[in-house]
Amino acid sequence: MPERWERRQKTMHLEKRVLVTGGAGFLGSHLCELLIAQGAHVLCVDNFYTGNHANVATLRDHPRFELIRHDVCFPLYVEVDEIYNLACPASPIHYQRDPVQTTKTSVMGAINMLGLAKRTGARIFQASTSEVYGDPLVHPQPEEYWGNVNPIGVRSCYDEGKRCAETLFFDYRRQHGLEVRVVRIFNTYGPRMHPNDGRVVSSFIVQALQGHDITIFGDGQQTRSFCYVSDLIDGFSKLMASDQAGPVNIGNPGEFTIRELAETVIALTGSRSRLVNLPLPSDDPKQRRPDIAIAREKLNWAPLVQLHEGLIKTIAYFDTLLSGGRIAVAA
Ligand code: NAD
Ligand code: UDP
Ligand code: UDP
Repeated sequence: MPERWERRQKTMHLEKRVLVTGGAGFLGSHLCELLIAQGAHVLCVDNFYTGNHANVATLRDHPRFELIRHDVCFPLYVEVDEIYNLACPASPIHYQRDPVQTTKTSVMGAINMLGLAKRTGARIFQASTSEVYGDPLVHPQPEEYWGNVNPIGVRSCYDEGKRCAETLFFDYRRQHGLEVRVVRIFNTYGPRMHPNDGRVVSSFIVQALQGHDITIFGDGQQTRSFCYVSDLIDGFSKLMASDQAGPVNIGNPGEFTIRELAETVIALTGSRSRLVNLPLPSDDPKQRRPDIAIAREKLNWAPLVQLHEGLIKTIAYFDTLLSGGRIAVAA
């Protein structure tokens, strides 16, 4: 065997090979960065439905980073040690644009990635969501709560797709002994959110910076709990390295009404935008707050960045983006 080839093989075995689906999206790009910093070889797979090249621009030329355009609804044959399955549009306007494709991405994507994990023996991580709790009747939401989800509404393609993906993960675990890790992510924000994805934090910041009306849906008394992206990605890393299959809630328990969020964004940007009320979309959850006792106890994880601090960083990112400056701003 030629010496160079042998050396290459050895190097390849030293580096952990990690597949990140949805790696060119908001959360995926931050995860790819962390994995590269930890010394992994990262294979980023994305069909660019909502993700883009700019999100991974700083990684593109890195020798341990590879980017493949691929739709997870189709089989994928690669050799990896770990899989993070993040591929799925996440904002309501994106996942409702082609709802059938959203369900396919969650369900067929999970089947293909689980099949890949089964063949390679890779540990596999699923980005699930607080939406599995639907419009929750238990507050805050612990992992044991089964949820209150409308199976036939406009949000169902996302909620039920993610619930079915969780079912598949735990059946592959029981039936085939796969090493699974399932995280339930609560609303996360930060640099590289899509400026036009309609999610509340990005929308309010962009509206405030542009002096447009701040669009509060309903009376603004519905609540959400907002987690800064660096805290979330730290939670991913801790869960993947742990012996917990999950599901584990990762989110910031600080709970705010949407009106409070709007007022905070106005105060931090010094904007003169007005608050206006628009109709509440159907099935919009009235309250959401994670119970993070399991993450604290089993992963030794807790969020560090509080809303003000995270919003200041996110506002700085969008300010640069909107003024035509560089897009890649560190979290
Ligand atoms: P995002 O839209 O920025 O990223 C999703 C990525 O998946 C994009 O790059 C998109 O192009 C890609 N993708 C979509 N369909 C695909 C397919 N069929 N094949 C390959 N790639 C595909 O959203 P995000 O906020 O980064 O979310 C990432 C994951 O985290 C999603 O699975 C989402 O459901 C989950 N999540 C996010 C949040 C949040 O607050 N950001 C909350 C709960 C769950
Ligand atoms: N699969 C894949 N990559 C692999 C192995 C499997 O994409 O390396 C896909 C394959 O197309 C299959 C799915 O994963 O449809 C589920 O695989 P599994 O082995 O569980 O089921 P089966 O092949 O028996 O349908
Ligand atoms: N929302 C709002 N104005 C907007 C966008 C969203 O009032 O311009 C509200 C939305 O109705 C919901 C909350 O903010 O109650 C969070 O919405 P988002 O789409 O960010 O996340 P999700 O509803 O999926 O938690």
